[in-house]
Amino acid sequence: QAKDDGRNTVRFFTSEMNARLQRNKEVLTDLAESLTKEHFELYYQPLFTIDQNILVGAEALIRWHHPEKGMIPPDQFIAVAEKSGLINELGDWVLAQACREIKNFLNAGITVFKVAINISPVQFRRKDLLQHMLMILAQHDVSAELIELEITEGAVMDNVDQAIETMQALHDAGFQLAMDDFGTGYSSLSYLKRFPIQKVKIDRSFISDLENDDDSKSITTAIIQMSHSLGLHVLAEGVETEEQLHYLQAEKCDYVQGYYTGRPIPASEFIKNFSESKKGKYANGVWTESTT
Ligand code: C2E
Ligand code: MG
Ligand code: MG
Ligand code: MG
Repeated sequence: QAKDDGRNTVRFFTSEMNARLQRNKEVLTDLAESLTKEHFELYYQPLFTIDQNILVGAEALIRWHHPEKGMIPPDQFIAVAEKSGLINELGDWVLAQACREIKNFLNAGITVFKVAINISPVQFRRKDLLQHMLMILAQHDVSAELIELEITEGAVMDNVDQAIETMQALHDAGFQLAMDDFGTGYSSLSYLKRFPIQKVKIDRSFISDLENDDDSKSITTAIIQMSHSLGLHVLAEGVETEEQLHYLQAEKCDYVQGYYTGRPIPASEFIKNFSESKKGKYANGVWTESTT
């Protein structure tokens, strides 16, 4: 970190920085302890086809049940885990837990289904990432075809050639690959052509602005069209309203994820909601089975 600051920069250690460091240290100690005690849980958010008729998968989103502070969202601890390298162990737990739970989903009759997990840029750069993940899959007797890996632009842009090699190896092993939070990073659409990915996830920020910002509409439409012309599927993240959904349907987006079609929920609840009715609509928290 310090070496990025340039030669002529003098860094002052303010009390604010001190306090932040102290906080991070506490989070890190608690994280390490929670890892051994399994104080984590995966929530699952449903992913649907754009007509909402078919459940195609779920994104696994980590939750930390802190013994004193209650539930802590990932935004408040992933970055700390990344700086310390603890993210690798956390990521291992996420994959293993997803393997255990995907079997429960399949057993409950939720088929044609993939679980998407988030891969941190730190994990992505691990030399033994693929071997390591295959080992975890083998331990749980789960095939890579059932897993989609969500990678961000930040993970791939600092060494594009190396990243492409890693992505290709992962895909060859059977994993599906999605570019997460697309549009927020610094990769250009032209890079998509080189990446061996199958899906683009349009970042929530564009979707939430769809109703009152024409630029967000143009960008969303451009991402959908460009992705399709490259043979990639497109999913819209963070869909919260019917209006947003209608726009995305008109623009031929393929998949939808968001509070409108379903919030992240614990695995047991996910099974309750989705085990039997494969056909139906889930909107504003209510599941309605379709009769056709
Ligand atoms: P992400 O991968 O982009 O995940 C989507 C985030 O958007 C989730 O937040 C989800 O709860 C939230 N979301 C989904 N639909 C809506 C919506 O309609 N409206 C709004 N306002 N939000 C919506 P969450 O669970 O807090 O996760 C935040 C980020 O933390 C994730 O963003 C991902 O980058 C990271 N993360 C979560 N789980 C893991 C994990 O297991 N490993 C790693 N490395 N990162 C994770
Ligand atoms: Mg994600
Ligand atoms: Mg995302
Ligand atoms: Mg995001």
